[in-house]
Amino acid sequence: MIGETRRESPSEYIEKHLLNEVTGEMGDNASQELSRMIGIIEYQEKGDASIESELLKLNLSYETPDLNPEDFGRTIIEKFPEFMNNFKEMTSLKLKSGDATLNIFDITPKDVRIFFNPYIDTHIGYISGKKIFIGSDINKPRSILALLHEIGHSHENEIIFQEEKNRGIEPQEDLAQLLVSERNAWAFALKKIKPFLNNPLFKKDAVSLFMKRCLTNYEDKIKKDLLVRKNISGSLKSTIPNEHFDEFLDFPRDPEE
Ligand SMILES: [Zn+2]
Repeated sequence: MIGETRRESPSEYIEKHLLNEVTGEMGDNASQELSRMIGIIEYQEKGDASIESELLKLNLSYETPDLNPEDFGRTIIEKFPEFMNNFKEMTSLKLKSGDATLNIFDITPKDVRIFFNPYIDTHIGYISGKKIFIGSDINKPRSILALLHEIGHSHENEIIFQEEKNRGIEPQEDLAQLLVSERNAWAFALKKIKPFLNNPLFKKDAVSLFMKRCLTNYEDKIKKDLLVRKNISGSLKSTIPNEHFDEFLDFPRDPEE
């Protein structure tokens, strides 16, 4: 959906570079593998931190933002009000491993702000308007992948949310669009992290499996949403939410949940 050029589509990219590259035994839970800490950051009101492990170096600058409940978006206010405390705002984040470098704010739209919470450890990440929220400390590969995924969403937010917002369309259509958006965001994250896949903290198989399972879980959730909406709504009308909410679950979802 981005551009008209007939290059690899995001799903083709994912097929080629992600789904077929899972080799070897990764165990059940790739996110555990990706939760190894690069280091511990003692957070202050604001500051700079530098941590390093397994030849991966992370340089962070942060401050403490003034956030109001409405900044967090509807899902959090309604479902996870306790989520809103103690966020930090990232003002700079750079990763380095061997020859690979990644400056997070080089790949983030200028008007998008990034918030994360070092004091909780959830699998939640989302984008509400121009604000990205990551529900964990940024000192582990899993959080960095979640952040890259949300930055991926931030690049196409405009397209999805402006034109379609509040236009009553068939759920099949908007859910399909959400899935495309989800694949796009993982394709973006994978491209950006690719130079780091030699680093032991970003084991290629773990990263591939993690993304693959998150995507599968998302697809399952969408299918379920579709069934629920079909059952409760006579008109089948729906609206595109103004936030994109992700749970980075890399284990099989309970179908009855
Ligand atoms: Zn997503």
